[in-house]
Amino acid sequence: MTLSAVLHKPAPVDKPRQRLFIPGPTDVHPDVLAAQTAPMIGHRSDEFESLYAKCEAQLKQLFFTDARVYILAATGSAMHEAAIRNCVGGRVISFVNGAFSQRWYDVAVGCGKEAIRVDLPWCTAVKPAQVADALLSALADGPVDAITVVHNETSTGVTSPVAQIAALAREISPETLVLVDAVSSFSGTPIPVDEWGLDLCLTSSQKALALPPGLSFAAVSDRAFAKAGTVTGRGWYFDFLLLERYLKRNTTPATPAISLMRALSVQLDRIQTEGVEARFARHHRLAERTRAWAVEKGLGLMAEEGYASPTVTTIANTRAWDIQALNAFLAGREMELSDGYGEYKGKAIRIAHMGECWDEDLERLFGAVEEFAGL
Ligand SMILES: *Cc1c(COP(=O)(O)O)cnc(C)c1O
Repeated sequence: MTLSAVLHKPAPVDKPRQRLFIPGPTDVHPDVLAAQTAPMIGHRSDEFESLYAKCEAQLKQLFFTDARVYILAATGSAMHEAAIRNCVGGRVISFVNGAFSQRWYDVAVGCGKEAIRVDLPWCTAVKPAQVADALLSALADGPVDAITVVHNETSTGVTSPVAQIAALAREISPETLVLVDAVSSFSGTPIPVDEWGLDLCLTSSQKALALPPGLSFAAVSDRAFAKAGTVTGRGWYFDFLLLERYLKRNTTPATPAISLMRALSVQLDRIQTEGVEARFARHHRLAERTRAWAVEKGLGLMAEEGYASPTVTTIANTRAWDIQALNAFLAGREMELSDGYGEYKGKAIRIAHMGECWDEDLERLFGAVEEFAGL
């Protein structure tokens, strides 16, 4: 056995070969898929309430928060909307450095809010100084209810320093809420929500959490919850005050996605068994390996130096591979990676290494890409 094989905990033996190296949806473990086939139960039952309470407690641990986690039967984009409807009465600043941060801005506009858009170059991170500049200039015209920042821009593979951003924003404008999208980083890297002072941190089920799509989660601070009480037009499905009332009884106002909750429960146990620290370390190790491989093969890296994502790597297609042909070749080996996003189509390759991805999966992918390219 090689040294690295000894150091790197092997994948569970029953783990199937990873197929999806796309940044969501990601492969789901068979035990997690199977959990969804259990019979329905009433959602106003003791059995459901204990399932909900268990998941809520485990999610709070994963978010490193003592406050609360709302669980919605809807995807992460819905949680973008929930965040805006509950936390923004007046103005919001949205930092846009990729497709998903742009979506959050679009959601704010769609909700009829006064959204101030701050564009930053794609493939770069949002920096605390840029946040300070934007906040100070907006504050000259009145208060700012919230800022929106995407922690891990999946479109470019860039991670922004949200801890430093939140700290500086708090210093400049204590009443401004810091809303963070951690859809593609959550559970792949530590995001201690309370310690970092994030007022809302949201994620989806189908990225690093490696669950089927259809659930989203948000850790919501007491400050954000209190703010919701002052904002009108929160709607009904996303209303934090209503969600809180039901959360106290370990259930949701509308019918929860019971099968997905069962899958969530099994997956949260699997994460606990692996150990969160080991899980974070695995993601960082896979990211480092992917970057090293790309450079070794004469490819470029798109992310600003020092801000590369731990869960998805964006590689410049400097060898001008036909990415469609590459994916057709990979399909024959039951694998798939992602083309560049939007204007990077054909110019970049995105390799997701999140969720159920292990060292041997990546090596198998790299081997196949090298075979395709004749490297
Ligand atoms: C995938 C993604 C979203 C959208 O999430 P859905 O669950 O598809 O609605 C938002 N933000 C980021 C960073 C994402 O990667």
